[in-house]
Amino acid sequence: MEKVQNYINGELIDPVGGAWLDNDEPATGQVFAQVPQSDKRDLDLAVAAAEKAFETWSTVPIAERVRTLNRLADLCDQHAEQLVELESKDNGKPRWLARAVDIPRVGANLRFFTSLAETWSTEAFAMHDGFNLTLRQPIGVVATISPWNLPLYLFSWKVAPALAVGNCVIGKPSEVTPMTAHYFSKLCIEAGLPPGVLNVLHGDGASIGDAITEHEGIKVVSFTGGTATGRKIAAKVAPTFKKYSLELGGKNPNVIFADCDYENMMETTLRSSFANQGQICLCGSRIYVEEGLYDRFRDDFVGRAAKLKVGDPNEDDTKLGAVVSRQHHEKILNCLEIAKSEGGKILCGGGAASVNGRCEKGYFIQPTVIEGLPLNCQTNQTEIFGPVVTIEKFKTMDEVADLANGTPYGLSASVWTSDLETGHRLAAKIQSGVVWINCWLVRDLRTPFGGMKESGLGREGGLDSFRFFTETKNVCVKY
Ligand code: NDP
Repeated sequence: MEKVQNYINGELIDPVGGAWLDNDEPATGQVFAQVPQSDKRDLDLAVAAAEKAFETWSTVPIAERVRTLNRLADLCDQHAEQLVELESKDNGKPRWLARAVDIPRVGANLRFFTSLAETWSTEAFAMHDGFNLTLRQPIGVVATISPWNLPLYLFSWKVAPALAVGNCVIGKPSEVTPMTAHYFSKLCIEAGLPPGVLNVLHGDGASIGDAITEHEGIKVVSFTGGTATGRKIAAKVAPTFKKYSLELGGKNPNVIFADCDYENMMETTLRSSFANQGQICLCGSRIYVEEGLYDRFRDDFVGRAAKLKVGDPNEDDTKLGAVVSRQHHEKILNCLEIAKSEGGKILCGGGAASVNGRCEKGYFIQPTVIEGLPLNCQTNQTEIFGPVVTIEKFKTMDEVADLANGTPYGLSASVWTSDLETGHRLAAKIQSGVVWINCWLVRDLRTPFGGMKESGLGREGGLDSFRFFTETKNVCVKY
């Protein structure tokens, strides 16, 4: 049985209270590791270590921080295959996906933010009788709380900018997928990251997550996860005036006009619907197709979706692996029952998938396409976060803009058309933080990323991350 440990003050240690949680492999349903169930006592140790480390880390020359973090990036690349294996085993995603997407982004996140930090300059405002210099200073001890769907990818997406600008970090990965953050802790030690600069605490949201949001020593909380948890965190941090950002759930529209590049749209729509078993906050779970193309699209899409192989994440031809946990599996199956009871017509899938051999007890779901549901039903209003999409036809741009905007969410949207004017006009109307035209999940790390409405507050990426993880101070000089 593998044992995950907390990483505090440069050392891997057991939780003070001696409490542990089981961690299972979603593809087999077998427990394979134990995870610390940390509490306030572990957090106090980590915050004390981070406060002490901040005195040095925030004041060393930027080149020194960059050297250390780039060493860590190199180690992540060198250990990529071990990280791939752990991420896939812990999360259920196909290994090839972790190899192609999740793990390369870890080193890329670190390198992107170190190179940005090296060239970052802030503003100066000249007056006729003096000038203003706007300083952006590291804040102190900051916390990052990240989810299970892209475990190390999102963990490093937050930790890298926070460290690059001189903060010290308490990182809490999801207790459901702790393995790669644990391995990353070992690489931090090997890279020579000074003790206390990054501390990784494991445990569930109710114990350690809550303790983090309440702790007086923590000045900032950067959260990615579900909307309900985000709402709780916002309420918790408000009285203490912690700075916070929330990257939350989505119910993203994928709008397809009849004049689109059909093959490109179809291949990408299969990915945006089912990649990572539909457990990407950016997946397009509501597909709207222009009337003239609808029948062709439906028959083709359903035919191709039904052929996607659901299987052992270790096999290269598996397109969908396991969903992340027994609890999440049950939640998705329950959503499918609700969709049926709401009158949805299941065109393919609609239930659990069975995979034989070592995976017979795993948590698998068939790729599912549902037709005939109105906008205002639970299936179209709430995030399922599984391989489940609804399809519907539309006639006009105004109609589809209303459909696209007709949920409490506003994270991302895709628009498929050969007419750029149509694409831009619709993009301007859509209420979401990200709109992709003729593509999906194309990410330039310099661009702002985040959601509107109940999909979040604040933006990450590029200088937005740096502005979030620093305190702004204007120094005014009068001649
Ligand atoms: P959760 O909201 O359940 O959990 C996210 C993180 O918050 C986990 O580390 C969790 O810990 C922790 N947590 C839970 N309760 C609390 C609490 N009361 N106080 C502090 N921390 C807490 O989300 P999931 O892990 O289920 O992730 C899926 C969700 O994340 C989806 O809704 C998805 O859309 C969203 N997401 C959004 C993204 C975006 O960029 N907008 C990107 C990726 C995902 P633990 O798991 O250990 O309980």
